[in-house]
Amino acid sequence: MSSLVSRSGGAKLRAQVKKDKGSQRQLDLTTGILDHFNSLHSVDYWPDKKIEQQLIDDDQKDINSSFSDVGLVNGVIMFSPSSASKCPRELFFKATKTKKDKVTAFPYQRRWTRNSTAVHRAVQKDLLYAEKVLPAPLFRVKKTPDGRPSWEKNIAHVVQVEHEGTAFQLYGMMDAILEYTPDGSTVGFEFKTKSTTIAAVGDFKMKEASSDHVTQCSGYSLLFGVDEFLIVYESVAKDSWMKGEEARPDMRAFYIEVKDEDRTRLLDKFAEIAENYYSGEISRPDYSKCLFCPYKTRCKEVGL
Ligand code: SF4
Repeated sequence: MSSLVSRSGGAKLRAQVKKDKGSQRQLDLTTGILDHFNSLHSVDYWPDKKIEQQLIDDDQKDINSSFSDVGLVNGVIMFSPSSASKCPRELFFKATKTKKDKVTAFPYQRRWTRNSTAVHRAVQKDLLYAEKVLPAPLFRVKKTPDGRPSWEKNIAHVVQVEHEGTAFQLYGMMDAILEYTPDGSTVGFEFKTKSTTIAAVGDFKMKEASSDHVTQCSGYSLLFGVDEFLIVYESVAKDSWMKGEEARPDMRAFYIEVKDEDRTRLLDKFAEIAENYYSGEISRPDYSKCLFCPYKTRCKEVGL
């Protein structure tokens, strides 16, 4: 496997991971997932009918599933891991169905998100092909009781929570739940794209995983009972085609271990917003999170 990896610059990626310092576990998992993708992307392989059909079935399930099927309880505020790091007031406005600002998305911005979504799906497909193509895959996608890959709508569910006497519900799904084959442990997989330049995933600009993405893992931990996560970033922009072996790495991986204090911190935040929701008192603002907030007009009216 190592010869496959070196052909695609995997040795350089491993050296970069080592520079990020950390435990042996962190090193094993982060180098492991990058090797996993690089090994797959170093070989040619034919389409597999079963895998392709599985992905079509998944898409079909997505189309046919309804948000109302998931078992949410009426009148109980809901939170999702993907928005766990957002401003408390924004989450309050969302829960109370406050009118959003009209946001104009430029065509190139829509293509930006379209490309990211497509890469996201391609990476999930890679995970299935890696299991089939690689002689000793380091990761396998865990399967649901009905044999589907453990990701997206296949694992979407709701958990009812009572924290410090306040009730709320968590709803979400993940990019994938993986088995790390050397020891059979369960690892959450979260995939993110960067679309600006290859430097966005370089070790100068990216010293660690985004704190928002780490908080998201705490939410997944509450929903799925997983403690270890790999957050993998891929730059959609690549280095020059002609660079070959010298090309700058386009993927980074970070290992996150969610601890009790991380889960408690998030539960405290959700409970605080939930209390506001039930009492009607508008939640506190966090002005460091305003960039993509769709409630700026209403927030300004409310003031501090
Ligand atoms: S505008 Fe900023 S402070 Fe106000 S709700 Fe949105 S994110 Fe929070």
